[in-house]
Amino acid sequence: MQSTQNSRTKRVIDIQHACCSNGCNLITDEKTIGGMKAIKAKIKFNDQEGIIYLDPEFGSYNHITDLNIPEGQQVDFFCPECGVSLVDKDDLCKTCGSPMLSFEIPKEGVVAACTKKGCFDHALRIESFDEMQIEVDDLFIRMIL
Ligand SMILES: [Zn+2]
Ligand SMILES: [Zn+2]
Repeated sequence: MQSTQNSRTKRVIDIQHACCSNGCNLITDEKTIGGMKAIKAKIKFNDQEGIIYLDPEFGSYNHITDLNIPEGQQVDFFCPECGVSLVDKDDLCKTCGSPMLSFEIPKEGVVAACTKKGCFDHALRIESFDEMQIEVDDLFIRMIL
């Protein structure tokens, strides 16, 4: 089952499909970041609510939001379509212990990112790595730029 494996090449993963757990598409063409369609999510913190657009380039945490989020603030993420939470309270950031935001990438796996502003740790968990050539640390893949 081992196919042509290049020697651990790091590469950029562009997220072209992302879904909430109910299957809503989170990729929007309302905004582009770096020329690519952004990932749209609803965010809440304290009593504020807004929309965030995330850079689909994996490992980047460029984002656009109309809310002014203080550093160190933990933010809740929701699907903008159906409102389901995108945060997995059982999955905690290995850096700061905050819950992780996650969304599904069909056929590729789950992308997870820390929900705390200023941490923005990124982890990509992959269920199928046939097409992936990135460093694999057990079942956990982490790319931090
Ligand atoms: Zn949804
Ligand atoms: Zn964190």
